[in-house]
Amino acid sequence: MSAPIIYLFRRDLRLADNPALSAAVATGRPVECLFVLDDGASGPWKGGGASRWWLHYSLAGLAAALEGRGGRLILRRGDTEKTVAAVAAGIGADAVYLGRRYEPWAAAQEGRLQERLSQNGVAVRRFGGGLLCEPESVRTGQGTPFKVFTPFYRAILPLLCAQAPLPTPVKVLVPASAVDTDTLEDWRLLPRQPDWSGGLRDHWTPGEAGAWQRLERFATNALADYGALRDVPARDGTSELSPHLHFGEISPRQCAARVRAVAAQQSAAVDGAESFVRQLVWRDFSHHLLFHTPSLPEAPFRPDYGTFPWRDDAAALRAWQTGATGYPLVDAGMRQLWRTGWMHNRVRMVAASFLVKHLLIPWQRGEEWFWDTLVDADLANNAANWQWVAGCGADAAPYFRIFNPVTQSEKFDPDGAYLRRWLPELAELPTKHLHRPWQAAPEILNRAGVALGRDYPMPIVDHAAARARALAAFADWRRDRPG
Ligand code: FAD
Repeated sequence: MSAPIIYLFRRDLRLADNPALSAAVATGRPVECLFVLDDGASGPWKGGGASRWWLHYSLAGLAAALEGRGGRLILRRGDTEKTVAAVAAGIGADAVYLGRRYEPWAAAQEGRLQERLSQNGVAVRRFGGGLLCEPESVRTGQGTPFKVFTPFYRAILPLLCAQAPLPTPVKVLVPASAVDTDTLEDWRLLPRQPDWSGGLRDHWTPGEAGAWQRLERFATNALADYGALRDVPARDGTSELSPHLHFGEISPRQCAARVRAVAAQQSAAVDGAESFVRQLVWRDFSHHLLFHTPSLPEAPFRPDYGTFPWRDDAAALRAWQTGATGYPLVDAGMRQLWRTGWMHNRVRMVAASFLVKHLLIPWQRGEEWFWDTLVDADLANNAANWQWVAGCGADAAPYFRIFNPVTQSEKFDPDGAYLRRWLPELAELPTKHLHRPWQAAPEILNRAGVALGRDYPMPIVDHAAARARALAAFADWRRDRPG
C-alpha cells in the first residue's frame, strides 16, 4: 500500500479550484487533510476577533464538505512545523501538499517546514492558486516588481484565466490509521460577546457554499450595474466576496471566470465584469506589494513618511472606532463595521482618510482596528489600502487630497438611505440636514427628536480647521524632511 499524503490547508479553505488539493488527490493515495491553528507564527498579526469568528464556521463547513467526499479534517493547534512533522511520522506520510500563503511570515514558515520535513524524508509540494498571478510571474521590463497599478493591470490582464478553474475532487481517500484531532470548540474562536457576533451571523455564511451563493447573487443581481453602483453604499452593488476570497473559500480565478461567463451571455454585463475583474487585480497588486515589501503592514512604503508628524490622541481614536465623530458618513461606516464585520469600500476610504487626515492619527492605528473588526481583514489588502489613503503607499492618493466627509456623503448617499440605516437616531432628519446635522436649526433638530451632544455627537473637529491643520502639517514636514 502506498504511503499517505498530508494535505495541509492554509488560506485555501475550499475543495474546488484548489490546485494543491487536486494534485494530492490525483496521486490516488490516501490524503490526510490537516489544519493547524498556529497563533504564534504570525507575530503581531494573529487573526483578529472577526476573523476568528469566520474561521470557526469556515472550518466547520470544510470538515462537512470533506466528510461528504469520504475525507476528514484533522484539527491541531500549535507550531506548524512540529505539528505537521508529528502527524507525518504518525501516519507514515512521505509528502505534504499545500496551497502557499503570501504573507512574508507564512512564506518563511513554509520554507522552514520544507527544510525540516526533508530531513525526515518527507517532501513538501507548494502550489499557487490564491491569486490570479503568482508574485514571481509578473515583473516590469526592468525585471523589478511593479509599484504602479495601471501598468501592473495591463501586464496581468493577458495572463488571466489562461486555465479554466479545476473541479471539486470526487472522492478523498483517508489513511487507515487513526489520528487525534482537536474539536473546533476546543479552540474557542468564537467571541465572548455573543451580541457582537449576532450581527456577523445575520449577515454572513462562511464557507465554500456561502461564497458561491454570494457570487451567484452578485452575478445575477448586481454585475450589470457594478460600474455605476459600486460606490453607492446604500445599495448591494458590490459582491461582498472579500472575506470568502481572504479565506480562500473561492478563488479569484473562479470569480473572474464566472463573471466573464455571465458577460458572455449578457452584453449589458460586459463592463461590470471587467470592472469587477479590475478589483480582483487590485487584490493581486496588494499581495504582490506585500510579498516584495514585507514591512508593508508596519512601515510606510515610501520611507520618507517615517518622519511624518502624526498625533497621539486616544480620545479621538476611540470616537472614531465607536462611530462617534459627529460626521455621519464616517460614523455610519464605523457602525456598519462593528455590526457586520464589513464596510463598504467608498466608506472605508472616507473613514480612513478622516482618521489620518482630519485627526492626524497614524494609519497603523486604523489598520489595527480594521484588523480586529473586519471579517475580511487581510494583511496585504489592509496594509496597502491604509497606506494608499495615508499617501505613503505605492501609487497612493497624494496626502494633500483630503476627502470632505460631508460632500462625499451628499454625493454617494444622496437620499441618506445608508446614513438612516446605520444611524437610526438621525433617521427623522430631513435629508438635507442628515449629512451635516450640526448646521440644522434647533427647531428642525427638535422636530426630528435629535438633541446634539446627547443623541448624536457634535463634530469632534471642524472640517475646515482640520483640513488646514493637515495641509500645514504636510507642508512643514515636506519642508523639513531630509533630502
Ligand atoms: P468588490 O467591489 O465586489 O470587489 C471584488 C473583490 O476585489 C473584493 O472582494 C476584494 O477581494 C478585491 N478588492 C476590491 N477592492 C479592493 C481594494 N481596494 N484593494 C484590494 N482588493 C480589493 N479589502 C480586504 O479584502 N481586506 C482588508 O483588510 C481591506 N482593508 C481595507 C482598508 C481600507 C482603509 C480600505 C480603503 C480598503 C480596504 N479593503 C480591504 C479593500 C476594499 O475595501 C474591500 O476589498 C472591498 O470593500 C470588499 O468588498 P467587496 O467584496 O464587495 O468588493
